[in-house]
Amino acid sequence: MVFEVDAGAVDYAAVLIDAGQSAAAKAVLAEALPPKPPAVQDSNPVVMRAAALYAVVLGRDPAAERWATHAFEVSQRLPEPDALPALAARGALAGVLYRAGQLDRCIQLFQGLVEGLQRRVGPDGSAALIARADLALAQHVNGRCAAARTEMSTVLAAYRRHHPHDHRTHVRMLLTLAQMQRRCQADPDAVQSFVAAVTLAHQHLPTGDPLIRQATRLARTPGGPPCRQCRDGATAGSYLYGDADGGVTR
Ligand SMILES: [Zn+2]
Repeated sequence: MVFEVDAGAVDYAAVLIDAGQSAAAKAVLAEALPPKPPAVQDSNPVVMRAAALYAVVLGRDPAAERWATHAFEVSQRLPEPDALPALAARGALAGVLYRAGQLDRCIQLFQGLVEGLQRRVGPDGSAALIARADLALAQHVNGRCAAARTEMSTVLAAYRRHHPHDHRTHVRMLLTLAQMQRRCQADPDAVQSFVAAVTLAHQHLPTGDPLIRQATRLARTPGGPPCRQCRDGATAGSYLYGDADGGVTR
């Protein structure tokens, strides 16, 4: 039985997500979608889009993987698996796998996402650069820390050059870089990045914006244990560290 979802409700949920109202979006999508994903052959691009958005707002809920997998499988049957909604389905599944710690598959999906977005919106497009940052974060957690930190700095510089007014994303990227640097025990670099993130947030975001609080809180929170690659290898900054991280021994 072919399953239909109200496209208007899906558009509304997307608007709510963009506005940061993910709880409201979750309620809209829960109402629009059936309790379980339909069979892939009974699905369609509207259900795919709803399922991908639902997976994003479900976050760590175990149902997120089911919906993200459904969206991705539908996207692979479309005549244009590189269209933006299909790429969004790929990104939603990559995010779910990242949270589940399935990093190899996650990285593979993010690599496809980056390539697809670079073709669709150009290498300097906002979505393509944000996907590159997500990929760098997954690679960092997967132990390629020096390469991932370098990539994150490169992406941040490119983002500032091509999207100078999107301060919110600059702050997010700076926080990601700062957290990577802190986990790798590159403390002076981490402090510098946190200070830059908090300063930028105060300068450009409206007073009381949740991202200002988040930046301040992250800057004050002590880092967790260092990443395994850095703990098992040499300290950050040594030549051995660069070698150990270069991917040759992985
Ligand atoms: Zn590290």
